[in-house]
Amino acid sequence: MSEHVYLGCHLSCAKGFLHMGKEAVSIGADTFQFFTRNPRGSRAKEIKEKDVEAYLAYAAEHGIGTIVAHAPYTLNPCSADEHTREFARMTMEDDLRRMEYLPGNVYNFHPGSHVGQGIERGIELIADMLNEILKPDQHTTVLLETMSGKGSEVGSRFEELAAILARVELSEHMGVCLDTCHVYDAGYDIVGNLDQVLDEFDRVIGLDRLRAVHVNDSKNPFASHKDRHEKIGQGALGFDALYRVVHHPRLSHLPFCLETPNELPGYAEEIRMLRGV
Ligand code: FE
Ligand code: FE
Ligand code: ZN
Repeated sequence: MSEHVYLGCHLSCAKGFLHMGKEAVSIGADTFQFFTRNPRGSRAKEIKEKDVEAYLAYAAEHGIGTIVAHAPYTLNPCSADEHTREFARMTMEDDLRRMEYLPGNVYNFHPGSHVGQGIERGIELIADMLNEILKPDQHTTVLLETMSGKGSEVGSRFEELAAILARVELSEHMGVCLDTCHVYDAGYDIVGNLDQVLDEFDRVIGLDRLRAVHVNDSKNPFASHKDRHEKIGQGALGFDALYRVVHHPRLSHLPFCLETPNELPGYAEEIRMLRGV
C-alpha cells in the first residue's frame, strides 16, 4: 500500500492563502480547509490577487491538492425567517464569486436547520437557494456536509442529501462532504461496518458525489446526535477506524481535513499518525 493520501486540517484564513499554504506544508499537510469569512458570517476580506497568485505558485511547487472552503456555520438556508434565508443566499453567492479566483476547489456548507417546518420544507428551501446561486460556468463544486442530526438539522440521513441533490438543476456542480464524527453521531456505524455504510452511501447518493472528508473523532457515543469533535484516537471512533477511513481504497483519492480540537503541533502529529509513517 503506497497510495498518496491528501491530508490536512482546518486553518485560520486571517493571513491569506499563501500563509495557509506555508502553514499546511510546515505540518506535513497537502490540503487544508478554511472559513471563507469569520464564522459569524460577517464581511469577508476582499481577495488579494497577489496573494492568490503567490499561493497558486506555492501550491503547485509543494504538491498541495484540492482545498476545501467552508461557509460560515451560522448560515441557515432553510430558516423559517425570510431575512435569515436571504442572508445565507447572499453570503454563499458572494463566496462562490470569490472562489472563482481559486478554480477547481470545493465549497462546503451545512444544509441548515428546518426549525420546526419539517424536513421536507427544509429540503425544498435548501434546493431553492442552490438553484438561485449556482451558475452554469462556475469552477467550484458546492458540497453538502453530512450532519449529526442535532436539533432540527437537515442532512443527517443520506436520503435527505439525495433529495436536495435531486432538486438542484445544475447538480453537476454539487457534491457531498462526509464528516466522520457527524455520520457516526447520526447512526452510521463506520467503526463496525465501514464497507456497508459506503455501500449505502453509494446506493442512496452515489459515491462519485463524495468529494471531501472531515476526519474527526467524537466525544459522544454512536447515534448520539450530538456533534462534538474529539482528537483522533481519543473519542468514540478510535484511531483504527479513522485510519481505515483515510486509507480505504474507495476514499483514499479524496482530500481529508481534520477539524479536531488542536493547535498546529497537535494537527502535525495527527497527520503523521494518519499517514501511517
Ligand atoms: Fe462543517
Ligand atoms: Fe465537519
Ligand atoms: Zn461538527
